[in-house]
Amino acid sequence: MATAPDMFSREDEVQILDTITNWLEKEVRPVTKKYEQADEYPFDLVEQMKELGLFGLTISQDYGGLGLPPTTYAKIVTAIAEVFMSIGGIINSHLMLGTLIYRFGTQAQREQFLPRLATGELRGALCLTEPDAGTDLQGIKTVAKRDGSDYVLNGSKMWITNGLYGSLYAVLTKTDPAAKPAHKGMTMFLAEKGPGFTVDRKLKKLGYRAVESVGLSFSDFRIPAERILGGEEGHGFHHAVGGLELGRINVAARGVGIANAALKDSIRYSQQRRTFGKPICEHQAIQLKLGEMATRVEAARLLTNQAAEKYERGERCDMEAGMAKLFASEAAMYCAQEAMRIHGGYGYSAEFDIERYYRDAPLMCIGEGTNEIQRILIAKNLVRLFPA
Ligand SMILES: Cc1cc2nc3c(=O)[nH]c(=O)nc-3n(C[C@H](O)[C@H](O)[C@H](O)COP(=O)(O)OP(=O)(O)OC[C@H]3O[C@@H](n4cnc5c(N)ncnc54)[C@H](O)[C@@H]3O)c2cc1C
Repeated sequence: MATAPDMFSREDEVQILDTITNWLEKEVRPVTKKYEQADEYPFDLVEQMKELGLFGLTISQDYGGLGLPPTTYAKIVTAIAEVFMSIGGIINSHLMLGTLIYRFGTQAQREQFLPRLATGELRGALCLTEPDAGTDLQGIKTVAKRDGSDYVLNGSKMWITNGLYGSLYAVLTKTDPAAKPAHKGMTMFLAEKGPGFTVDRKLKKLGYRAVESVGLSFSDFRIPAERILGGEEGHGFHHAVGGLELGRINVAARGVGIANAALKDSIRYSQQRRTFGKPICEHQAIQLKLGEMATRVEAARLLTNQAAEKYERGERCDMEAGMAKLFASEAAMYCAQEAMRIHGGYGYSAEFDIERYYRDAPLMCIGEGTNEIQRILIAKNLVRLFPA
């Protein structure tokens, strides 16, 4: 992650957020249903995203990006998720890949890839999960075997966002499957498609549509040794978990976006819809829901910002990022469901956005470490911080 550019001020942040919010309202909101309901990749929006510089949001200015600080990035992610979470999916794994290359890559890798990632010419994907291993990353089976100056990859990956239309893939492998502990034998490669690297299938999903999630496979796929992230074998697990703090802040920010969208729609609808002679916002049962939703949105926003601030200062923030991710994703689930109740039958209709929030929200509880795992990690941190 790039640090804040020296001259970046909060006025700059307001201006950037204004530009993106205007674009979201003018260009994205009107076509959201079209792309989401057809589960169709929004090529035209991607072109606009390139022009806006969204593919380089957090990439250092030294490599052609905007170099925005993590706190601003989190606010942008929230603004995008409020309108169309899937669009955020197109830049999120991409920017995480950019961060991995910036933090762990060799100087040659930074120069080779970051400028093209910043413009969106290359679009990134992270390939960690496999059909038989998600949470337990040390249980992956994809193997990379040295052969002269190349490595030969065999195995498969599952659920890869940007897997079809992306062009640069960080692929977690085992270069020493017998290593003990297993993480010492893991290595990340920077791969581009070629013979032996195939997209098997596009997965159908409950929500998070329009951005593709795919299964990939490697069958004797050759990749030069200089494509090892950082140039040395054995650091892949460290690289994969090194991106998780930012990844969790990102998921938390998306959760805030969905929760807030559900709240805003509910406030509006409850003033328009009348029952028994008055707007439903005047019924105490609805007020209780709105009050609870708004409080959760604000708490989620504060936790997310707190984690992003700590990350921005370069401090360890795995516990704060985990708490933000856990709370904001559950807030998104809660608010989407309450919004559906407030909207009555219309909440169930594909003509309103509520049913989309309801379908998109659960992903936030799964991605970047499930909420069960977040609770366990928070507890482990507490025990570390407060030894008996
Ligand atoms: C739409 C979508 C997009 C995704 N995009 C990507 C991507 O771009 N790149 C990528 O690499 N992956 C991606 N993923 C995968 C995602 O990161 C995994 O689904 C997630 O990490 C969970 O792994 P799993 O599905 O294998 O579940 P499992 O690991 O099999 O977990 C199943 C259940 O067991 C619980 N569990 C597991 N271990 C423990 C434990 N030790 N203690 C207590 N409970 C436990 C989990 O919390 C969960 O409830 C995506 C997934 C989805 C659905």
